[in-house]
Amino acid sequence: MYNLTDYKTIKQLLGQQDFHFSKALGQNFLVNPDICPAMAEQAGITQESGVLEIGAGIGVLTVELAKRAKKVVTLEIDTRLLPILSRTLADCPNTEVLNRDILKTDLPLLVQEQFGELPLYVCANLPYYITSPVIMALLESRVPFRAITVMVQKEAAERICAPVGSRGAGALTAAVSYYAEADYLFDVNRDSFMPPPKVDSAVIRLTVRKTPPVQVADEKYFFRVIQSAFAQRRKTAANSLSAGLGKDKQTVLSALEKIGAAPTDRAETFSLEQFALLAQLLGE
Ligand code: SAM
Repeated sequence: MYNLTDYKTIKQLLGQQDFHFSKALGQNFLVNPDICPAMAEQAGITQESGVLEIGAGIGVLTVELAKRAKKVVTLEIDTRLLPILSRTLADCPNTEVLNRDILKTDLPLLVQEQFGELPLYVCANLPYYITSPVIMALLESRVPFRAITVMVQKEAAERICAPVGSRGAGALTAAVSYYAEADYLFDVNRDSFMPPPKVDSAVIRLTVRKTPPVQVADEKYFFRVIQSAFAQRRKTAANSLSAGLGKDKQTVLSALEKIGAAPTDRAETFSLEQFALLAQLLGE
């Protein structure tokens, strides 16, 4: 077993492959020994679970997941890491490394092929350049993940976990809360990584809902309404919605009145129920 949070070990492993960290791929590897066990512990995984990880790196989190789960599948886009992973994960027979881009992966198919009927979880230290698309792809895939525990930039964690209808809320907050309940688990200092990024991080857990908290006839349009309402954060929701949806201002104002909102309200004050009603009122 390698000590994957030990600088000397990491340098040796990477040096043998002449590996250089890729900023573009969000490669900041965890070196704080407390973080991966805490993440794996709080992800809700049991010995009967299947776990999907995105971005194995050198496998520091993968090893912790493998200790607690029945099967771990980890996707890693960077081929240079594959020979390293075959060494660091040699003692984890319940782990499969796939050289894939998460955003080009058919998730329902992958899950069917790799996990069968196992109860499913996601646990990952996400590459930050694709935080929102990855989270939305996981949720929109309708794969019945029980929980998605991910490390993201602290700012993104605060945004995702803000209550819908509060100042900190954004389009991602509203979209995520349609699918899941978000909990802010703990902060992770930038010095916990090699190389250290310019920002701090945090771990959040999204517990996926069995049914959405509001009913919408057309999900696609519902998300378009949310996106449009938040698109121009400094503008009133009326202006933002009118521009984003291509509706005349009077139509939007009359819909806002019907949902109990003032003409000057901003999108961050709206509840999920209000967004659902707006989608119904403004829908084609
Ligand atoms: N899990 C490791 C850790 O905690 O130290 C590595 C985390 S690092 C922040 C993100 C990892 O995701 C990198 O290994 C990177 O190569 C990989 N990655 C980046 N983009 C990816 C993509 N589109 N699909 C799959 N993996 C990706």
